[in-house]
Amino acid sequence: MRILKRVSSLQRHLNIIKEENLSIGFVPTMGALHNGHMSLIKKSKKENEITVCSIFVNPTQFNQKDDLEKYPRDLDKDANLLHSHGCDYLFAPPSTQVYPKKLKTQINLDISHFTSVMEGPNRPGHFEGVVQVVHRLLDIVKPSNLYMGQKDFQQFTIINYMLNALEMPTKLRVCPIIREDDGLAMSSRNVRLREDLRPSCSLLFQTLQFAKENIDQKSISSIEKEAIEKLTRLDFKPEYFSIVDGYTLKPIVDAHNSEYIVACTAVWVGNVRLIDNMILRGEKKIR
Ligand code: AMP
Repeated sequence: MRILKRVSSLQRHLNIIKEENLSIGFVPTMGALHNGHMSLIKKSKKENEITVCSIFVNPTQFNQKDDLEKYPRDLDKDANLLHSHGCDYLFAPPSTQVYPKKLKTQINLDISHFTSVMEGPNRPGHFEGVVQVVHRLLDIVKPSNLYMGQKDFQQFTIINYMLNALEMPTKLRVCPIIREDDGLAMSSRNVRLREDLRPSCSLLFQTLQFAKENIDQKSISSIEKEAIEKLTRLDFKPEYFSIVDGYTLKPIVDAHNSEYIVACTAVWVGNVRLIDNMILRGEKKIR
């Protein structure tokens, strides 16, 4: 595996690959890699001749300085893991390569219809930052396929919208959520969880399962209310538990009218903010 830090050197390599008409799969990450990320690498390797992974802790998507500073970073460990999974290129640029002073990288795309719910109000500017960095990275790598996780449901929905709205040629492939044995969704933030709180973290998965089991029996509002009650404990503070349409992310009032329903939640566990989701009806889809 080659590790490259400069846009020009990555592009020199990728140009040769493109001249040979080989397909490129791209997995953008912020590092602190785990098996969730590796599932994206595996899928990319299966579906493409060349796999590129990027590690870049993107400052423009953090709305809290503290969260950005505390984000776990270990490039050597990440590089070893990627290498052992057969990743071909690791692009690990400094901020100056992603956002050179003279380049306009902000994207003129109205995503407000997706950001008024769930993560949006709680993290102002976050998705604008995600759109900016993914657009810039796609512009650098120009992959055939882009691999993202269902773990960040709102994120892949917005990126899918961006790809369609800007008529970008890359295809989005969404991969299922990889979980620990007790159901906790794998996340780079999990290493920061307080040890005494870790055993209770399966509560998120259990509450999402409760929603799935009850979607045909109970009203949406009563499921959401009960879910919030279940997630409220000493050191557990739910920010939201929202049952929404999987395409539009709009709140669902009557479950009978939707064929694709997803429950999304964000919960503070001590000083770590975890997100998770589960499809309650229908299959993971993009359009
Ligand atoms: P991150 O490094 O957290 O920005 O994540 C990079 C990519 O990995 C995103 O597309 C995430 O949705 C995906 N991802 C993170 N955790 C998981 C997981 N547990 N299962 C599947 N995909 C994941």
